[in-house]
Amino acid sequence: MTEIRRPPGGLVSALDPLMRRTNGVWVAWGSGNADRDVADRNGHVAVPPEDPSYVLRRVWLDESEVEGYYQGFANSALWPLCHMFAQHFEPRSDDWEKYRLVNERFAHAVAEEAGDSSDPVIWIQDYHLALVSATVRELVPGALIHQFWHIPFPPPDIFQLMPGGMGVALLRGMLGNDLLEFQTDRAARNFLACVDELIPDARIDLDKQQVQSGGRMTTVRAFPISIDVKHYESLAEESSAAKLASTLRERYTKKGRQLAISVDRVDYTKGILERLRALDLMWARHRELRECLVFIIVATPSRSALTVYKQLEEQVVEQVERINAKYRTKGWTPIVLIPENVNADRLAAIYRAADLCIVSSLQDGMNLVAKEFVACQVDERGLLLLSRFAGAAEEIEGATLINPFNIDGLAEGLKSALAVPLAERRARMARMRYDLHGATIFDWLRSILTAANELRPQRPTGVRSIKV
Ligand code: ADP
Repeated sequence: MTEIRRPPGGLVSALDPLMRRTNGVWVAWGSGNADRDVADRNGHVAVPPEDPSYVLRRVWLDESEVEGYYQGFANSALWPLCHMFAQHFEPRSDDWEKYRLVNERFAHAVAEEAGDSSDPVIWIQDYHLALVSATVRELVPGALIHQFWHIPFPPPDIFQLMPGGMGVALLRGMLGNDLLEFQTDRAARNFLACVDELIPDARIDLDKQQVQSGGRMTTVRAFPISIDVKHYESLAEESSAAKLASTLRERYTKKGRQLAISVDRVDYTKGILERLRALDLMWARHRELRECLVFIIVATPSRSALTVYKQLEEQVVEQVERINAKYRTKGWTPIVLIPENVNADRLAAIYRAADLCIVSSLQDGMNLVAKEFVACQVDERGLLLLSRFAGAAEEIEGATLINPFNIDGLAEGLKSALAVPLAERRARMARMRYDLHGATIFDWLRSILTAANELRPQRPTGVRSIKV
């Protein structure tokens, strides 16, 4: 039997009503028999299954395409480069070929779905599809095309590690958009600086954040993404979550201990090993802080087909075991590792129970965990230690900013965090929660759609939208 599951996450819940309202088409890749079984001959699936109101159009990828396009160029070249991890950057020409071909295939699928519509709105998501807009523009010249880039964008010195032809093709591909949306002003500025260095015919207006090239204009702006705040808050308020949160507190906050948490995919951008080194250093230096803190690390394996990710998973387990062996006492285990995907209700309870949440990303487009933590802190007792290199740091006021490269400073920062009085934590958390309610994923969506519409004010409403 094939089960149709709605993918979790804020993006889908925000876009779903938009897709329904516009009877849109969502173009996404599919692979494997289960995906094929529910699609018709044209790769169409009516969604949601209980009340079909828009269409999911599959672009079929075989195993070698997933490997070259997704694991290869997207996750072994673009991902590390955009996060400025030159040491993990592996641009391979055969992966690039696959990336180009798959992007081309997406562009043709979009053009097919546009059908007779001469002016569809097309919204492209993320770094997997950097080349799509330029091709769609050739195929559907009247389209309004925009793209959200979920991850950071590097400055020219880093971007130029990309072999010349690929780098220029990526920038030109992205310039096919009418509007290009980044998480932060920094990412938008970096993109403009790369265009300035590598695209000789481009003219940039920094005040207007616009690029003129190839006879057309691209507007480049920041739109920080967010979460469905009410959804997370209500998950944390459920009686089952309240119960689990108090069970966790009974178990881990005995004898005045504090409960710290972190939640991430296992990824080298998240600074998990740096966080562990800082904890180790703090406990080595400050004996009096042993037994004062229990750290729950929720760390889901991800992209495990790639060696560097698999190795990191093993290193995280090794380091947790080493630190626990070094400091454990009869009634105290310093770190509890949950190396799996935790469902959203449990996650909400973990966020709610915590006295401290640490986000130590070395680079991060936004980091939604920081926002989820704030939304779920319905008892307003927790402190957020947030990396200054996560996009969220440019938005959230009330967090304690940290530099995860500075292990020494992080260890001392953790020590100071443990001493922050409850009244101050409450005041800060109340402020962050208030602000977050004014900047939800629905606000994000509205501001993007407004900006896109302003680029074509004469546009009639209710036209078909296509999301890639
Ligand atoms: P990224 O997109 O790089 O993974 P974000 O912090 O922006 O980083 O988003 C991560 C998302 O994945 C969040 O919604 C978070 O709740 C979820 N997530 C991360 N780790 C886990 C886990 N161990 N179990 C369940 N969900 C997780």
